Amino acid sequence: MPEGTGHTGEILRPGAVIDGTVGPATGDDRFDSLCPSDGRLIARIPRCDAADVGRAVASARRAFDEGPWPRLTALERGRLLTRLSALVSDHAGELAALESLDTGKPLRQGKADILALARYFEFYGGAADKVTGDTIPTADGFLAMTLREPLGVVGGIIPWNYPAQIMGRVAGAALAMGNTLVLKPAEEACLSVLRVGELALAAGFPAGVFNVVPGFGHEAGAALANHPGLDFLTFTGSPDVGVLIQTAAARNHIGCTLELGGKSPQIVFEDADLEQAVPVILNAIFQNCGQTCSAGSRVLVQQGLWQPLAEALRARVRKLVAGPHDRDLDLGPLISEGQLRRVRSFVERAASDGIPLIAEGAIAPDAPQGGFYVPARVYGPVPPDHVLAREEVFGPVLSLIPFRDEAEAVRLANGTDYGLVAGVWSRDGQRALRVARQVRAGQVFVNAYGAGGGIELPFGGFRKSGHGREKGFEALYEFSATKTLVLRHG
Ligand code: NAD
Repeated sequence: MPEGTGHTGEILRPGAVIDGTVGPATGDDRFDSLCPSDGRLIARIPRCDAADVGRAVASARRAFDEGPWPRLTALERGRLLTRLSALVSDHAGELAALESLDTGKPLRQGKADILALARYFEFYGGAADKVTGDTIPTADGFLAMTLREPLGVVGGIIPWNYPAQIMGRVAGAALAMGNTLVLKPAEEACLSVLRVGELALAAGFPAGVFNVVPGFGHEAGAALANHPGLDFLTFTGSPDVGVLIQTAAARNHIGCTLELGGKSPQIVFEDADLEQAVPVILNAIFQNCGQTCSAGSRVLVQQGLWQPLAEALRARVRKLVAGPHDRDLDLGPLISEGQLRRVRSFVERAASDGIPLIAEGAIAPDAPQGGFYVPARVYGPVPPDHVLAREEVFGPVLSLIPFRDEAEAVRLANGTDYGLVAGVWSRDGQRALRVARQVRAGQVFVNAYGAGGGIELPFGGFRKSGHGREKGFEALYEFSATKTLVLRHG
């Protein structure tokens, strides 16, 4: 094995997690999983198909209707999640290495993701028995109350950019509320999800409660989304597939939450504290090589600050180096060849349209051949109607767009089809608050931008960024339904 790729050379053969057992897909069919740092084979993953998805949904249904699961109290469900959190912490080193090898993200990011995963299970474990209903004044002689009830079998389809974290927020909230789960991780990166599926069995989750069916989107993913046995769907991924998911949910008369992409703005006013803002702006776009739904990919800059901000970014971005995940450099590789082609097409478009390149980082000269590397890039001024300013690149590309005044800043910020996250930088508290209230985004930061925010905070978008809220306590409402109960006592 080459130096610096973190490979032991072992080809992993993980199993799907269906009905309490870990094993191959029907027919033992498998597909290759490659390391983004050098394109080498790291694992042969079970290629689940409609039959496997059917087995998983049937087992989740049995577990929901009959198994010990529906008889557990909220406290007992919470304790299982807390135990799973502890197991994730016990295996943190192994899981972080897997996540980093599988996605190409620098090891420190893999470690942060696994910490967040353990925290999700801890948070939702503690929250499981804190969800209460209301009593509601009604007609004389009657007592009315609301109960929060689980939805049933939840199908979860998750992407490759943060597999562990997104699994944590979906599984934590869905299981805390008493649902059972069939998870379909992305074909590009599913190793951590499969491993945690095994740990869930070790933690004591009954058979059928936590299933993981790896496979391709058009096979396992489509089979799960369209399965008539589901009671709810949650999806994180691209807007195009989001439309398919919502259509499938509508056909089966079930609800869904969609967490899609973003073109999130950071609005930097002339009175902003540049020293504070610049590192945050850089991290918000270049973390995970720009493959973050909440990436701050548009920076709107008030004219008087254009020169100093562009210069500060140029000085820092030139020093950013992309390289293999285990070297823990500033950027890892992109996830795949397809993603590399996608990012390059935006870069070529920028060049052919004459968009000025403010700064470019580097690729480590000894980065392994076969890895999917691109350098960090900052462009500007980018016309607000250019594709670079409107479409999600999902790569390390930052667009700078100038504005004159507050009204124009708000108009530009709201000028895309997305609405996931936004940042406002200003020393004028009233202005920051005014602008934060006017920006259409599910999450707004003032003088900060924490890619997605803490796990305790609700997260989700408007319009092309999706709908529904995950994370935080609010997710517990998404994964449950209100039942109204009326008793006559008069
Ligand atoms: P994608 O939509 O192709 O894949 C996401 C998941 O959907 C994968 O598990 C995939 O196998 C599955 N899938 C694909 N086709 C399917 C189908 N026909 N039926 C059912 N499932 C199917 O997305 P991608 O291109 O791999 O990921 C990048 C995109 O995801 C970006 O646009 C990004 O913005 C978005 N994303 C959003 C968030 C968020 O939280 N809002 C998080 C991560 C990624």
